[in-house]
Amino acid sequence: MDIPRIFNVTESAHRIHNPITPEKLATLGDALRLEAGDQVLDLGSGSGEMLCTWALDHGIIGTGIDMSRLFTDQAKLRAEELGVDDQVKFIHGDAAGYVSDEKVSVAACVGATWIAGGVVGTIELLARSLRPGGIILIGEPYWRQLPPTEDIAKGCLASSISDFFILPELLASFGNLGYDVVEMILADQDGWDRYEAAKWLTMRRWLEANSDDEFAQEVRAKLTSEPVRYAAYTREYLGWGVFALMPQ
Ligand code: SAH
Repeated sequence: MDIPRIFNVTESAHRIHNPITPEKLATLGDALRLEAGDQVLDLGSGSGEMLCTWALDHGIIGTGIDMSRLFTDQAKLRAEELGVDDQVKFIHGDAAGYVSDEKVSVAACVGATWIAGGVVGTIELLARSLRPGGIILIGEPYWRQLPPTEDIAKGCLASSISDFFILPELLASFGNLGYDVVEMILADQDGWDRYEAAKWLTMRRWLEANSDDEFAQEVRAKLTSEPVRYAAYTREYLGWGVFALMPQ
């Protein structure tokens, strides 16, 4: 069981697989007023940076589930590196349908809402692990500016304009589902650059080390096209944020 290989190549050097920076991740941990001993569940935990740094900074207890074997192994190494491996546990597996045995203070899915068929399904799934008074975290893109054409949406790697809302609509949608939005941290273009541009050097180095790999042609094509595609579309049109929700 694993995610498509392209992500394990292009994001192999990422600690955070999203446009949020380490600084903003720390700000989010502060903003949520986490307390030592709080349980945090993270579906699609990637390389574990959120749980590991929050364990270090706030003393939380965390469980992460991720379908990438590479990212899960990296998360375990990061926990050891930060000396928090007794506080956080990383499970390699499919997070679809995952509900924790014990109810948690924070139930998160940061940039992987497809695991439950979109934002609505993911909120429903996370709510099943949440203790009363707990917080749901959803990391999700939104349109910074509405793309004027469907081709521009496709340039952002969306399947259509209707894949995402503009920010006020996204916030309203949480309200319509019966949730208060109690905090948010938004990515900026510098954060997008850290997420996207970091893939380019990783691809270049991977190509130098793996020129005979059957995958090399695909990675080469991506390295050639990605900088311009990203600058023309994603960087201009797509926003991204983490939204903290509490049931009304
Ligand atoms: N939340 C992390 C990772 C976001 S990237 C961060 O912010 O750094 C999306 C993650 O979802 C990837 O790590 C990918 O491996 C994982 N993923 C994709 N499908 C999944 C599934 N069905 N179950 C669990 N994890 C999944």
